[in-house]
Amino acid sequence: MQTTSEYTYLFISFLALRTLIELYLKIRQRQHIIKHRSMVPTQFQQTISLADHQKAADYNVTRINSSFFFYLLDLALLLAWTYGGGLNYLDYLLHPLNLSPLHQGVLYLFSFSLISAIIDLPQTLYATFVIEKKFGFNKTTPKLFMLDLLKGVILFAVLATPLLYSLLFIFDFMGNLWWIYAWAFLAIFQLIMVWLYPSLIAPWFNKFAPLNDTEITDKISNLLDRCKLKNSGIFTMDASKRSSHGDAYFTGLGKNKRIVFFDTLISTLSPNEIVAVLAHELGHYKKKHILQHLIISSSSSLLGFFILGQVHHIPLFFSTHGVINNVNYLALLLFVLISPVYTFFITPLFSFLSRKNEFAADRFASENSNAQDLIAALTKLYKDNASTLTPDPLYSAIYHSHPPAQIRIEKLLKLS
Ligand SMILES: [Zn+2]
Repeated sequence: MQTTSEYTYLFISFLALRTLIELYLKIRQRQHIIKHRSMVPTQFQQTISLADHQKAADYNVTRINSSFFFYLLDLALLLAWTYGGGLNYLDYLLHPLNLSPLHQGVLYLFSFSLISAIIDLPQTLYATFVIEKKFGFNKTTPKLFMLDLLKGVILFAVLATPLLYSLLFIFDFMGNLWWIYAWAFLAIFQLIMVWLYPSLIAPWFNKFAPLNDTEITDKISNLLDRCKLKNSGIFTMDASKRSSHGDAYFTGLGKNKRIVFFDTLISTLSPNEIVAVLAHELGHYKKKHILQHLIISSSSSLLGFFILGQVHHIPLFFSTHGVINNVNYLALLLFVLISPVYTFFITPLFSFLSRKNEFAADRFASENSNAQDLIAALTKLYKDNASTLTPDPLYSAIYHSHPPAQIRIEKLLKLS
């Protein structure tokens, strides 16, 4: 029979391996960007200045430098919560309240989330008010930051209370197949959230206005007709109040579906470039990438619940990771904490799939709008977001959901 210490060695080995790989990749990415700092890649020499290229390099290197510290801090925290006895100690602190297991569980998970959020706060503050500010991207005022934080806490409390009570109730009282019910409940909850997000949640943080530039809306209507899609609403969002980074996204479900452009993007792209970006987003929809993503994420979540359903009553599962009290809410939290150590090893697969979809959406955009317009739009996005044009190929293969800039533009040039 396996013993606690054997499984502990297994977990620690996976954790050590993941840490070494991730630190090695960070170092590679940093070196690669520095090495290519002195020259703009050929395809971008007409469109991106050396000064902008170097600013992007410095911005990315600064972010990597600070990420070393926060990465190791997160690692130390994981060890402190598990083998350091943090999870046990928090449980011990709440015991004198003499609550029923269900209330105790919800209070425990709330307390854990609150402590984690407080520990994460310096990292967010540093990223926003030091790094983003240094490179001129940050537009968030301390007042807006505090307001966002407060809204985030309220939203979390409102959503997490019914969610945690229901999940723990299912876990505690629904028998051996609880994990299927819990999965189904969570999937429905998520679908409702996606449906409600555009009309109920997002407007609390940003202002949305219908896009009313007729030149742009006419071109968009033409595109939607060509793609046989109904126009369910095109909006601009006042993203510029927080950051000068630009983006566009597709959100919602059914009648609540909408296309959102950051105002920062509308102000820098020409109407034809906006249409090309939209065509790319529509490509994801038409090629069923959104559905595919939904299926993959819900089957991974089913697999996760299945595994949790098998291990949660095994004392070895707890003792292997330094946890004393064998209760359901601790099993749930412990599982959420330790599974990324293993799932890290399949991230390259998901990144690969995502990049494949990006190429397909680019192809769709070049067929239904114009590849040159998309190239121009992407170049502006790279420049405005100070994305690196020269990522390390291995780093990019493992983490990046989008293809490296040079390869993406090369493929688009062939389509134009
Ligand atoms: Zn895309």
